[in-house]
Amino acid sequence: MPIDSTLLKDLNLRHECDVHLGPRTWYGVGGHALIVAHPSSVQQLSALAARCHDASVPVYVLGSGANLLVADQGVQGVVVCLDDPCFENIDINGSTVTVGAGFNLAKLVLETAKAGLGGLECLAGIPASVGGAVRMNAGGSFGDIGQAIRRVMVCGASGQVYYRDRDDLIFSYRKTNIVARYILEVEFELVREDPDELMRQVKEIFLYKKVSQPLADHSAGCAFKNPTDDAHIPDKKPPTAGQLIDRAGLKGLRIGGAEVSPRHANFIVAHPGCTANDILAVIERVQDQVSKRFGVVLEREVVVWP
Ligand SMILES: Cc1cc2nc3c(=O)[nH]c(=O)nc-3n(C[C@H](O)[C@H](O)[C@H](O)COP(=O)(O)OP(=O)(O)OC[C@H]3O[C@@H](n4cnc5c(N)ncnc54)[C@H](O)[C@@H]3O)c2cc1C
Repeated sequence: MPIDSTLLKDLNLRHECDVHLGPRTWYGVGGHALIVAHPSSVQQLSALAARCHDASVPVYVLGSGANLLVADQGVQGVVVCLDDPCFENIDINGSTVTVGAGFNLAKLVLETAKAGLGGLECLAGIPASVGGAVRMNAGGSFGDIGQAIRRVMVCGASGQVYYRDRDDLIFSYRKTNIVARYILEVEFELVREDPDELMRQVKEIFLYKKVSQPLADHSAGCAFKNPTDDAHIPDKKPPTAGQLIDRAGLKGLRIGGAEVSPRHANFIVAHPGCTANDILAVIERVQDQVSKRFGVVLEREVVVWP
């Protein structure tokens, strides 16, 4: 089946054809998608998933594009955006907060802190949609999103919608055991705390990030995961990816418009005129150099499409 509007026939689905994806990501680079679909209900998303599955059409789910590098040749498939209001709902009931996958994470952090509900303040300063944050188990040294999750509504690749409960969810460093293609809604169990103290923590964490990271540049945050204890490093506490890149003398390494940030070695930033190929070339060069110097294979954190 051709990947054009005929694929979506009868689904009555809002969609765009031949869409430049670069501007929809924080990197701002990359090629086109054949179709970007905006389902307006869970039923519509499920029907779209089933249609693409049956036609063996590749599907990509786009959040806020903050951890994403789209290749210059684009993606031959359907990109699904959960940006309809039906996926941006929020319901606060006591200490339980239920929120759609398309909801903005920064807004959620502020709203819950102001309401005196603790557990998400550790995510201050992380650009994301809620769905993207769960997929990546976003977080940092202050905690991660997984720790506050009670239940997640998901949809499998072939369209079946179901819940995953806390008991059977595993969250680890930038990883979850949620294999379903679409994360639709998340239920958080938060803790009553003093709103002023929570807001103080949100501001403190945000300022810490603002000082240590090049937040104003085009990037996808940390390009590589930090090596874990099982990496073959003699130190007790393995150095972070940023420390390894820095020690390899790679800060400021530039290929085309892509550069290892002089401010934070684990950020690869895009300057005007940068292409996805430039960024991929810097990623490869960094992996190669760090592997040669320290015998550590840096695993990419940034997701690359296709
Ligand atoms: C300046 C900057 C600072 C950052 N700091 C941090 C940090 O401190 N900690 C951290 O963890 N990350 C950080 N990041 C990376 C990024 O913010 C996180 O990875 C975030 O979780 C990405 O969410 P997103 O909605 O933008 O996902 P996207 O980038 O759109 O997508 C990322 C992945 O999630 C998938 N996905 C998105 N939405 C869904 C969904 N609804 N269902 C299923 N899959 C989905 C995509 O298919 C893709 O595989 C930073 C990024 C930037 C640009």
